[in-house]
Amino acid sequence: MRIDVLTLFPEMFPGYLGQSLLKRAIDAGLVDIELHNIRDWARGKHQQVDDRPFGGGPGMVLRPEPVVEGVEEVQQQGDRAGHLILLTPQGRRLSQAVVEELASHPRLVMICGRYEGIDQRVIDILRPDEISIGDFILNGGEVAAMVVIDAVVRMVPGVLGDEDSNRQDSFSGEPPLLEFAQYTRPREYRGLSVPEVLLSGNHPEIARWREQQKIDRTRDRRADLLDERSN
Ligand code: SAM
Repeated sequence: MRIDVLTLFPEMFPGYLGQSLLKRAIDAGLVDIELHNIRDWARGKHQQVDDRPFGGGPGMVLRPEPVVEGVEEVQQQGDRAGHLILLTPQGRRLSQAVVEELASHPRLVMICGRYEGIDQRVIDILRPDEISIGDFILNGGEVAAMVVIDAVVRMVPGVLGDEDSNRQDSFSGEPPLLEFAQYTRPREYRGLSVPEVLLSGNHPEIARWREQQKIDRTRDRRADLLDERSN
């Protein structure tokens, strides 16, 4: 899978991408992440990428030309244009179902906004898939892009050592239940013991216990996940 990110702050990414599972996925050639600085497409001596909003108001707005022209040039690189995403609090909300949908594309191209946002004509011209990571306002799209990258890369075949861990994670499966409680060594800690069934070696029993945990936890903590299904 190839992921291109257009941002005013490409230097924010390497630290995060250079660790752990993402680093291993990149090193193994399972995912290729290309960073592009929107400023490279800015015009004029000062390479200005933002300007004051027409109609007045606080802050600055990202101008349309560097974003549109940057995206068009990046999409021409590689053998397919890819699925274009704009990170914005006004987009459809990211969920595991959306992550799985995004992971089905062989190439994603992401635009990170900044300032008060992006000139509307970028959206009118490029028609990106507008994605929000939640109902709150970040300073820029970079952290949101990292969230999408992190979640999507987990779905790329071969990235997780054990493919089963994807299938048993919270929100996977139908209905999308929360995961069961997990335990490791020691068997007893501060007076709290690991449930007997997990030490029994009886795998059908363990599977039944875990299934029940998933249902109980989801009902207690996130009944909305069950409601969504009955809607
Ligand atoms: N004025 C904009 C509004 O109210 O919709 C918010 C602009 S925000 C300060 C700057 C940039 O951060 C946005 O253009 C977007 O790229 C990113 N951003 C902020 N919150 C986000 C969220 N919840 N999900 C995805 N991107 C977000």
